[in-house]
Amino acid sequence: MTTWLSPHFSLEEMTATQQRGLDNRPPASVLKRLKATVLVLEDVRTLLGNAPMVITSGYRSPAVNRAVGGSPTSAHMRGEAADFICPRFGSPLAVCRAIAASDLRFDQLIEEAGAWVHLGLGGRWRREVLSWRPGAGYQRGLRT
Ligand SMILES: [Zn+2]
Repeated sequence: MTTWLSPHFSLEEMTATQQRGLDNRPPASVLKRLKATVLVLEDVRTLLGNAPMVITSGYRSPAVNRAVGGSPTSAHMRGEAADFICPRFGSPLAVCRAIAASDLRFDQLIEEAGAWVHLGLGGRWRREVLSWRPGAGYQRGLRT
């Protein structure tokens, strides 16, 4: 049974984790934020021509976040971030370019090593656009 948080995004995909054995059920406060987060993801999906998005990481409990080496202040722990790919639209770089060029509100947009897109919401809504590369870490702007 699937619990839909919005027309295209489910609670299950927003809380899935490879970290079996670790509790990744969101508390009520996080669930409320997840519902707001998927509404933004719906806007992203529309921006991407309604191409299906694959969520690779949504909510992370503090234990899961530690296990995957996430930032200690990660927006994933607040239910205000999603990592995803959208192969039918294009590469993570192409997705980032489309989001950066739109008027969507976000805090951080990160193109992660050509492998996935991190979209962080809430906080200061900085509209910060970054690229992450192994060894080089975070750099401002999008890189080819
Ligand atoms: Zn992320």
